[in-house]
Amino acid sequence: MARTVHILSDDEIALVRESSLLVGRTLAEVAGMIAPGVTTGELDRMAETFIRDNGGIPGFKGLYGCPSTLLISVNSEVVHGLPGDRALRDGDVASVDCGVLMNGFYGDSAYTFCVGEVAAETRTLLSVTLECLAKGIEQAVAGNRTGDIGHAIQQHAEAHGYGVVRELVGHGVGRKLHEAPEVPNYGRRGQGAILREGMALAIEPMINMGTKEVRQLDDGWTIVTRDGRPSAHFEHTVCVRAGKAEVLSTFSHIEDVLKRKGVMA
Ligand code: MG
Ligand code: MG
Repeated sequence: MARTVHILSDDEIALVRESSLLVGRTLAEVAGMIAPGVTTGELDRMAETFIRDNGGIPGFKGLYGCPSTLLISVNSEVVHGLPGDRALRDGDVASVDCGVLMNGFYGDSAYTFCVGEVAAETRTLLSVTLECLAKGIEQAVAGNRTGDIGHAIQQHAEAHGYGVVRELVGHGVGRKLHEAPEVPNYGRRGQGAILREGMALAIEPMINMGTKEVRQLDDGWTIVTRDGRPSAHFEHTVCVRAGKAEVLSTFSHIEDVLKRKGVMA
């Protein structure tokens, strides 16, 4: 990860927003298609076509050797699951992470979907992880530090008895997908990199129902929980502002689709 923290102009932030919104629309397409029997590879091919049809470039594909447009992590997979022939099953949860490069700037966002009927305790994990994201974003204001974001996320997750993944963190976003600073999902108030207006950050809590410990599968990509219990992951790209962060990506298109499908109240 590059060390330099970039402060983006309003014009540059507008481009990060455009890329982030295309990620949100892509994830809404995923929301429409995801169901028992659908394979992760089918979702990936649809997403690549959708992004290219809308003038973007898949942000992950080719980066660090990543073979796919989406990273889809099912159940005990935390992040970096590779799409393939796996058919989703009733009761699964699938974190779908997507990046877009457009006009020279990246956007990055992830959402964890329920496939069919999901156990109540797993649905609680998802809603608490979404709350963790909101609490992290509340702290993404000028003058705070990355530790304030991490602390807020960690406090909320651990209050529910959940494990906060340490090995993977949020990050700056801009002309590169991963820029400084690192944005851990744990930390101490007042510690870490100082946040300044115009910094674009990907905030992305990865929260495990059980232990915080993870390991990597032999494919060299997929990160899974050590205890095999489920994990959730939600991510927004945001811009640090004075007083209140500006959220650049959106879940609103996803939520519209899920409501239409009757999945959300
Ligand atoms: Mg991501
Ligand atoms: Mg990210």
